[in-house]
Amino acid sequence: MDNTIPAKLPLYLHGSWVQSHSHEWLDVTNPATGEVLTQAPYTTEDELQRAIDSASEAFQNWRETPVPARARLMLRYQELLKQHQEELAEILCEETGKTFEDAKGDIWRGIEVVEQAANIAALTMGETVENVASSIDCYSYLQPLGVCAGITPFNFPAMIPLWMFPMAIASGNTFVLKPSEQDPITPCKLAELFEEAGAPRGVLQVVHGGREQVDFLLEHPDIKTISFVGSVPVGQHIYRTGTDHLKRVQAFAGAKNHMVVMPDANKQAVLNNVVGSSVGAAGQRCMAISVVVLVGEAQQWIPEIRDTMAKVRPGYWKDPKADFGPLISPTARERVLSYIANGKAEGASCLLDGSEVKVDGYPNGNWVGPTLFADVMPEMSIYTDEIFGPVLCLVNTDTLDDAIRLINDCPYGNGTSIFTSSGAAARKYQHEILVGQVGINVPIPVPLPFFSFTGWRASFYGDQHAYGKQAVRFYTETKTITARWFDADIEHAEHPNMTIH
Ligand code: NAD
Repeated sequence: MDNTIPAKLPLYLHGSWVQSHSHEWLDVTNPATGEVLTQAPYTTEDELQRAIDSASEAFQNWRETPVPARARLMLRYQELLKQHQEELAEILCEETGKTFEDAKGDIWRGIEVVEQAANIAALTMGETVENVASSIDCYSYLQPLGVCAGITPFNFPAMIPLWMFPMAIASGNTFVLKPSEQDPITPCKLAELFEEAGAPRGVLQVVHGGREQVDFLLEHPDIKTISFVGSVPVGQHIYRTGTDHLKRVQAFAGAKNHMVVMPDANKQAVLNNVVGSSVGAAGQRCMAISVVVLVGEAQQWIPEIRDTMAKVRPGYWKDPKADFGPLISPTARERVLSYIANGKAEGASCLLDGSEVKVDGYPNGNWVGPTLFADVMPEMSIYTDEIFGPVLCLVNTDTLDDAIRLINDCPYGNGTSIFTSSGAAARKYQHEILVGQVGINVPIPVPLPFFSFTGWRASFYGDQHAYGKQAVRFYTETKTITARWFDADIEHAEHPNMTIH
């Protein structure tokens, strides 16, 4: 992998890194310094068409490539990703502002999916039933679909592309990736390593851009599936447009994740977990805890939550004391600041306000410090909207039933957690809550890749989720064969000469 960042980011088309002919380019900046790292093109229609044509052509050979050969590509790839994890993490830190540990985690969680993709033979097994009728057997195969596309968000520029293309390609498809225009360097490095691992020409293509480029992919008849991760309005647009063009679509969208704290919870565990899960990565995680629901006497812990949160601070990724980084852009920062102002105007108690935070030496960073609101009511915009910043809302309820009602009334259903020492409370919660990923004394319950990432309701549009068995289902079509062979043919095989006369 070449660790330098080019002044202009190339496209990865037909197995080559090529300069776009676009007249429109977008600055990719370091969010801690404001420095321009590179420029990414808004890929032209001709270039997008070339990517799709090349992926269609590559599919003809790739679909015939034996499954163990596809698995071995993934084995080589996961090994290269591990070898280059630290270099990748440095690039990721530069373009996202994440802390080094967090950046390594972003890559690691992607590597785990590649490890799983190396297990494709077992994942892709069909089903068989012998003797569905006299001497008739029935069996199914999972076959690849063709060219798949992925549209990814800024907040996990390694993990989320790696949720997608390794599983799609291991399943026998080819792939066009359109990463976030805000941090497209890391995804290009992922593609460079994939090439180094031996990916055949055309199996993966990387294009850059925004809405127009995405719409081109959504409407193109040769693209069979769309995998999207991003915000709710864009997710809805992707799902509607993609399905309107008769494609298979999985769209992972925004979130508002609640942590319920019961009075019998281990207080130290709550304090240890609440801060990292809410302000870690500056709150820019789809599984971040953005609301803590304090049930009954747990409300007495508010001062300690405040004190614990007051100790963390943002900073530049090379500063080992930085707990989290900046917001991705000045626009994202302004948006978070406006929510903080709204929260105050709407009457919530602002116990910590990170609006004015400064980081020495980095005057141009998009910093927001840890912010804590208590007495938050469900109709306030800081409760109803995904803020995507280091802002935590505390809501009080009297009972677990009230907490469950509150959360089930919230349209989002990505992740949630409960902290309690009662098995009965945990069991009731896991059963009744309308959220797809539940942690019990675990703050951010992201499933490992042998399961799937299973957000619900407004946090997901589609049916088959990311990675695991569901991803293989998403990226394949089932072919079911009903077969009968005649006994007379055995006699013919045993006595071939008999029929010659
Ligand atoms: P975003 O929706 O702004 O952008 C996501 C992708 O869509 C980007 O590649 C972007 O270029 C493209 N895009 C943007 N506007 C578009 C439009 N109008 N038409 C077509 N394409 C468009 O999201 P973001 O700000 O990059 O990421 C943050 C969001 O992603 C948050 O809402 C977060 O919750 C969500 N997210 C969800 C999950 C999940 O698994 N549910 C995971 C990570 C992030």
